[in-house]
Amino acid sequence: MLEPTALDTQLTAQQDDRLRVLIVGAGIAGLTLARLLRIDGLHPVVVDRAPDSSHPGYMLALMPLVDRALDDLGVHEEYRRASTPLDRFTFHGHRGPVLRSDPLGEVLLPYGEYRGIDRGALVEVLTTGGIPVAFGTTVAAVHRSGDASRVAFADREGRAVGEGVFDLVVGADGVHSRMRRLLPVGTVGTVDTGWSGWVAWADDHGDSSSAEELWGNGFFLGVYPVPGRVGVILCRPDDDPDLTTVIAEVRRAAHGIGPRLAGALDALERTGDPYLWRLDDARSERWVVPGAVLLGDAAAGFLPTAGIGAGMAIESAWMLARMMRGADPSSLPARLAEWERLEKPRVESAQSNSRTLAKMMFRRGVAVAWMRETAVRMMSIRAALKPILALVAEQPDPTAAVIRAR
Ligand SMILES: Cc1cc2nc3c(=O)[nH]c(=O)nc-3n(C[C@H](O)[C@H](O)[C@H](O)COP(=O)(O)OP(=O)(O)OC[C@H]3O[C@@H](n4cnc5c(N)ncnc54)[C@H](O)[C@@H]3O)c2cc1C
Repeated sequence: MLEPTALDTQLTAQQDDRLRVLIVGAGIAGLTLARLLRIDGLHPVVVDRAPDSSHPGYMLALMPLVDRALDDLGVHEEYRRASTPLDRFTFHGHRGPVLRSDPLGEVLLPYGEYRGIDRGALVEVLTTGGIPVAFGTTVAAVHRSGDASRVAFADREGRAVGEGVFDLVVGADGVHSRMRRLLPVGTVGTVDTGWSGWVAWADDHGDSSSAEELWGNGFFLGVYPVPGRVGVILCRPDDDPDLTTVIAEVRRAAHGIGPRLAGALDALERTGDPYLWRLDDARSERWVVPGAVLLGDAAAGFLPTAGIGAGMAIESAWMLARMMRGADPSSLPARLAEWERLEKPRVESAQSNSRTLAKMMFRRGVAVAWMRETAVRMMSIRAALKPILALVAEQPDPTAAVIRAR
């Protein structure tokens, strides 16, 4: 459970910790790290700019990359109860009918389960046991002084709300991270697809263990199951008009899409004003600087195309927590450097995969759509998943990494 807790109260609870840690951003990465550090006896201060815990929410498909973190958090059973197996992936061509349907769950099974969960339910699972968070709070400035960092906090209106001194500041404030601008992390590469996606929830009218995607000519429609319903996303170029017109265009262009995708369009229409996500990302040159790290989307932000950003964020947070186990301010820098050396290439390779998929998915043009569909028909599921399977099959070992960092 997220426990709204004043900044001062959190600073007092932390004062005798062997490592004073600040986590900026109570999202998927920040909460995973916070909970694991608490299990290891620390009291990280956690702040989040959001006024409260009422995040708009969306669906997440999680790769088995998350299993070791869930085991260490002691919440694997809670996770299974709150999520649903994602056994199949079904692709529709740009005119509607199904192109292929693959047993994705079976392909991933040697490494663990592929499951669908609502972001809010995942936050509940990750915070089992409780995590104090100061909501409505952000960081205004970070000053390095000696071996520590002095942090000035502000509220959402920019008014000063206090200061703290920390051995490690963790920027886990998501894809449009402000911490990335406050820390000397080098250049930040971004990809802006020029597309955005409306997100809504719908009743499920189909096989509740299957995700479906329609790669259209100038639009993309996907449904992804979570327990009891499906998450829907409808993407279109930013220069396209409003939701009603785009839905009408999808209905006109794609026939025979089946009750599930048709129901998804109806649900978007009923939602009226669904949340619109911009489909852009960011990649920071450095993750580790003296006294601070970037974590999750703040370090390498993900387009939702590969369905792996949250999985990688959880893995990175778990590796970081395990490598911080027993560390003190003097042993920490070498461990952080080793963490970056191991995690950054893995995350960036997953991010590159999501960028490649975006180039294929977010396109206009009938010729492009036909060529894409020919490629999709010919490629085996294992070949398509090769970059992801490589990541899932070879997860790094934090114990060996700590030994190397000595
Ligand atoms: C529509 C959609 C679908 C997705 N689908 C999938 C999927 O199927 N599978 C998958 O693995 N990934 C998916 N992702 C990606 C995944 O959600 C992210 O990669 C993941 O949430 C990253 O976790 P994070 O903790 O780094 O960032 P977030 O979870 O975004 O958390 C960032 C937190 O920082 C807070 N914050 C922001 N700015 C500040 C600030 N200045 N100060 C303090 N706090 C701040 C925010 O309020 C938030 O709580 C999807 C993303 C979207 C948008």
